[in-house]
Amino acid sequence: MKKWLLVTVVAMLLLGFSACGGGSDTGSTPSAPAIYKVRMWVTLSNNPDAPSVTTLTSAQTVQASIWARGTTEKTITFKVNLCYDDKFTTLVNGVRTESSSKAVSVGALSTPLEPGNYTFQAISGAFGEIVGSSLQITVTPDTSVNTPTATTPAATLSEQPDKATFQKYFSDMNFGRVPAGATSPADFKQNVTVFSSGDQIALFFNSTQEVLVQWKIYDVQAKKVIKEGGFPKPLKGSSGEWGPLDIPAGKYEHKVYVGDVLVAIFPFEVSGAPTSTSPPQSPKPTSTVKSIKSDNPHFELMAESQHFRVYFHPPEEGLGTQIVDLGEQIYPLLIEFYGSVPPTSTQVFIYHDYEELVSLGNPPPDMPRENSMGGFTWFGKLTEEVGEHVELYNVRGNVDDAKSLLAHEVGHRFFYYVYPHIRKPVRPDWLDEGMAGYSQIRAGGRIPFQPIVDSAKSGIPPLSGITGLDKLLASSDWTLYGLFYGEAAAVILYIDCRYGKEVLQQLLREYDRTLNLQDAVLETLKIPFDQFEREWLNAVKETGAQAKNGNDFFTLFKAKMNGKST
Ligand SMILES: [Zn+2]
Repeated sequence: MKKWLLVTVVAMLLLGFSACGGGSDTGSTPSAPAIYKVRMWVTLSNNPDAPSVTTLTSAQTVQASIWARGTTEKTITFKVNLCYDDKFTTLVNGVRTESSSKAVSVGALSTPLEPGNYTFQAISGAFGEIVGSSLQITVTPDTSVNTPTATTPAATLSEQPDKATFQKYFSDMNFGRVPAGATSPADFKQNVTVFSSGDQIALFFNSTQEVLVQWKIYDVQAKKVIKEGGFPKPLKGSSGEWGPLDIPAGKYEHKVYVGDVLVAIFPFEVSGAPTSTSPPQSPKPTSTVKSIKSDNPHFELMAESQHFRVYFHPPEEGLGTQIVDLGEQIYPLLIEFYGSVPPTSTQVFIYHDYEELVSLGNPPPDMPRENSMGGFTWFGKLTEEVGEHVELYNVRGNVDDAKSLLAHEVGHRFFYYVYPHIRKPVRPDWLDEGMAGYSQIRAGGRIPFQPIVDSAKSGIPPLSGITGLDKLLASSDWTLYGLFYGEAAAVILYIDCRYGKEVLQQLLREYDRTLNLQDAVLETLKIPFDQFEREWLNAVKETGAQAKNGNDFFTLFKAKMNGKST
């Protein structure tokens, strides 16, 4: 019997979650960070203590060193991806940070980066949980004229495979193409050497004994491995894998390994990828909103729109005006759900650095300064001065983070405004953060479910029932926060998808009217609270065990609940 093993050749999913947690008597939510266990930075010399840089010329990219440090004392092993556009290459695998006091070298780039914006990400685990702060760098053109890249003759292979080892394990092996969108290997075309954008690359083999097969994609021009992977377990017989080709145009070799031994090498070329070796021609569209002199003494600039007043410093001017646009995209979605709109503009403040966050805001005292953070808060000096507001910290240059955090925090504002009686101490945190997470998801922000998938697969930390959710947040273990935010959002998503948006709205209205959540659930979902809790937990556990990753969880979960809404 032929066994076809499908292993998608790495589709990068940006997983992360925004967070703000806790609570107080006034019904506010203090800010809390996304959990990052690794911090990365770049210096222009081989010295981790040299000043870090985020903007460098193309030529400087090969002089630069990349560094990492843990933010906890725990040992963390991770790989580092370099992302640009929607593509990435793995720079290095198996980097280990030992403690927060010791910098480790992540390495250096061997070929200059072309001008553009890039992000380094520390990734851990099989499905790409981001454990490190997303380090953004901007590469500017060199002042000199760009010289065209020298073309290397493609005739010779970079190294020769070991034929004896190949014959020991394999009767044959083929490399080729499966057409875009194909879900079976029926249309596999072997010995293809030129691929174009949209093709899927495929590797099939027949092994005569159990063998663990691994592969690397080697960039011939850059002389380095840009991607690697492998089969999840030793296989015997006919097996294969294929997946989308998501590497830039260029010349490559697909190298196949058994252990450390190279057993096969397939040269190939990628041509005609529309977004290939050249960086995006035009940067992200700039906002049409113009910044003006701020009316707040702490911030020099502001930008206004129908629903927003965003305050920032000159270095964050681009982000600040973009936040206005993002906010106006998010607002209609929230108005549609909540059926009402707060009477005043939402004020958003973008902190320039950690010192400003500490002096004007109220971050958790043990929060590493590398973390990104959003808050909707009445705490801190700024709160005393300007009242309720959204604040964003360390989202510079990262529009996805900014959008997720903004939707989450503005979601808090709508929730408090439309359901004014659902306040602490009556309101559980899971409902509060669940509604904010739901806003984040509705607005197209990050999907916060990766920790659920991790938890369902490992059992550590355990999935909790709805009534136990707040204990996760109350714990001092930050690694549980992610699970809390994910599960809280999954409660609301569950109601939305299983019962429909209108029932979710009825439930909130009923709870706001009576302040009795158990009765409100019985009244609107027509089942006792403990049954609701059990059914929700079963659905989450089951989906978590099946899902490949957080985004997959989202898709499966909606499908299971018949996808009534969202
Ligand atoms: Zn929140």
